[in-house]
Amino acid sequence: MTDWAYFDYAATTAIDEEIFTVYTAALREYFANSGAFYDLAKKSFEAIFAARCEFATAIGADSSDEIIWTSSATEANNLALKGVCLHKDVREGRLITVATEHKAVLDAAGSLLKNAVKVEILPPRADGIVDLDALEAALKERKTTLVSVMAVNNETGVVQPMREIADLAHKYGAKFHTDATQALGKIPVNIADWDCDLASFSGHKIFAPKGIGALFVRKFPKVRVAAQINGGGQERGMRAGTLPTALIIAFARACRKAVENQENWQKITENLRAEILNNLPEKICLNIADNTPHCSQILSLATDKNSRELLELANTHKIAIAAGSACTTETLQGTGGSYVLKAMNKQAVAAKSLRISLAHCSKNWEIERLINFFQKI
Ligand SMILES: *Cc1c(COP(=O)(O)O)cnc(C)c1O
Repeated sequence: MTDWAYFDYAATTAIDEEIFTVYTAALREYFANSGAFYDLAKKSFEAIFAARCEFATAIGADSSDEIIWTSSATEANNLALKGVCLHKDVREGRLITVATEHKAVLDAAGSLLKNAVKVEILPPRADGIVDLDALEAALKERKTTLVSVMAVNNETGVVQPMREIADLAHKYGAKFHTDATQALGKIPVNIADWDCDLASFSGHKIFAPKGIGALFVRKFPKVRVAAQINGGGQERGMRAGTLPTALIIAFARACRKAVENQENWQKITENLRAEILNNLPEKICLNIADNTPHCSQILSLATDKNSRELLELANTHKIAIAAGSACTTETLQGTGGSYVLKAMNKQAVAAKSLRISLAHCSKNWEIERLINFFQKI
């Protein structure tokens, strides 16, 4: 496809060939507005309904009604945090989240602060896992509306204990939202097991096109979500706007594919990961210990050089890698490195780290180029 060695799957993926075919066929076939009256439009409506069922089943939701289509995971996170904490029935909104969350959660939390919602941002433990004792202490302090903790961290690959967090949140009467954007295809995803009330997803992280995301909103017990985009009342009044039928169909298929192939993809990437780790020079090491729960696709590596320099060098070798999340790379120099690693008390390596993200489709020649690059730095 390209002559680039691509190791930035956590930033985005290229569309899968099968999804591409499904997507382009749907663009032509289902152009009619799914909200219109005539039978041609009903075809679009029914195709969206089928996609909703496919998606809901794949993630282990109870009902297709629980899927709210959005434009992205950023929008889904905004809808979850603002929609729950700013709902008119909430008198004194309070959010608890963690310092290692994606900016889409942290910035939405910042905006809530300006709207008189109390926001508690917990530091994680040094291994990146949420400190359950600190979470319980914060929940005991005063009534909390929502707890938001991501499933898989996009910079470190650290996997959070979903069920334990849900149980704590529910014990103190709070709802639980998870940004599960990086979870599909990497770890088993099951809403029923996780017992979460809301969960965010994105198409372009799982080989579907960009411009489509979803928010799972539990029906029983009910979660009250105030719309953040107002209009024609689509998506049970929670998110207005004409539904992008082809994107939805492509996303649902990609979601099912990711869930069905998760174990297989994990095995493949475990081998690729081992190959990289076995060939690392001594001065480069993992930021995450082997015994910390993590996915196999994301490697956070500490080096002895400035991340910016390494990114520039990698670029000349046509290697696509990242220092942290894509959205913060620009400001790396100014801020002194990854806020995620800093939150984990890894100040010393925060500006000297690289993120390698793999996928089942990573090629041997790409791994070889990366290993050669590591030998040179
Ligand atoms: C990529 C990503 C997002 C943002 O997703 P978009 O669909 O690009 O808005 C949010 N959270 C995590 C963990 C991500 O990796």
